[in-house]
Amino acid sequence: MTIREHVALERFTTLGTGGPARAFAEPKNLAELDEALRFAAARDLPVATIGLGSNLLAADEGVEALVLKLAGELAAVEARPEEALVRAGGGAANAVILHRARAAELGGFEFACAIPGSAGGGVWMNAGAYGGDFASVLRRARVVSAEGAGWLTPAELGLRYRHSDLRHGQVVAEVELELVPRPLDEIKEIVRDLQTRRKAAQPTNKRTFGSVFKNPEHELTAGRMLEALGLKGHRIGGAQISPKHANFIENAGGARSADAIELMALARTRAREHFGVGLVHEVELLGDLELPPL
Ligand SMILES: Cc1cc2nc3c(=O)[nH]c(=O)nc-3n(C[C@H](O)[C@H](O)[C@H](O)COP(=O)(O)OP(=O)(O)OC[C@H]3O[C@@H](n4cnc5c(N)ncnc54)[C@H](O)[C@@H]3O)c2cc1C
Repeated sequence: MTIREHVALERFTTLGTGGPARAFAEPKNLAELDEALRFAAARDLPVATIGLGSNLLAADEGVEALVLKLAGELAAVEARPEEALVRAGGGAANAVILHRARAAELGGFEFACAIPGSAGGGVWMNAGAYGGDFASVLRRARVVSAEGAGWLTPAELGLRYRHSDLRHGQVVAEVELELVPRPLDEIKEIVRDLQTRRKAAQPTNKRTFGSVFKNPEHELTAGRMLEALGLKGHRIGGAQISPKHANFIENAGGARSADAIELMALARTRAREHFGVGLVHEVELLGDLELPPL
């Protein structure tokens, strides 16, 4: 495994922003993952794992860490229909997991058809949609860190609404998903329906990082709040609040992560002033990036 220096992260994020990672590696199995973690520990470098970068804002100035992207065996998928189980590497794309599950006539993962991330990223923030989430299908996840490795259940991972207790340096190397037998046509029908609903409501053909803010405990969702504040289409630099759905930020051309952060800060301030609500960001921030306090 090669560990490269100063690899630009912009091509690894769906928004297309982010500066260079100090070090970057793509471990293909547990032994290489171990080697990468030892490399970082020996140099006192923090470790961050990225999946498909679909929920990620990386600092424009770069990230002072060893950034890992799981590959090979750590991104492979195996369906075991006789056990109603799918085993997937943490780097496996949800789309591939869903494809394998469907071919094995295993249902329950359809909710992930519109979540363009990986298994590891899904566990990290308990990704979910349309009433389903990772917590509802995850039997256990193999978590590896410099301190050791072990299988953790959803409860041990602290999974709840768009949250886990995982910290950078803990790598979700593998997951086991407990699914249910379901005929192929039924799975296809559910996926078709969810994708149609998704396309009608969200900017699926733009560069975004999914929902910007978690939905607050309020009668209005974050998107409806920002829409009511007239923020749809508002642009700072190359980042724009989606004209289609106000809880999305699009790269409207040449965006930097700093532009997105400025838009988020503005949206949060306005939501606090008008609704008395402190919006919490759903997108993960990597490197020296933070929102100003409210
Ligand atoms: C168009 C669009 C629609 C979306 N819709 C939804 C939706 O409906 N529901 C939803 O929940 N999300 C949605 N998202 C957000 C995103 O797809 C999910 O959060 C997804 O789970 C992120 O996975 P990822 O692999 O891209 O993670 P990344 O964005 O690469 O990383 C996200 C976080 O997970 C950590 N991470 C990633 N992989 C690992 C690993 N193997 N081990 C440890 N940590 C890891 C990263 O360090 C980072 O902190 C959407 C995004 C887009 C662009």
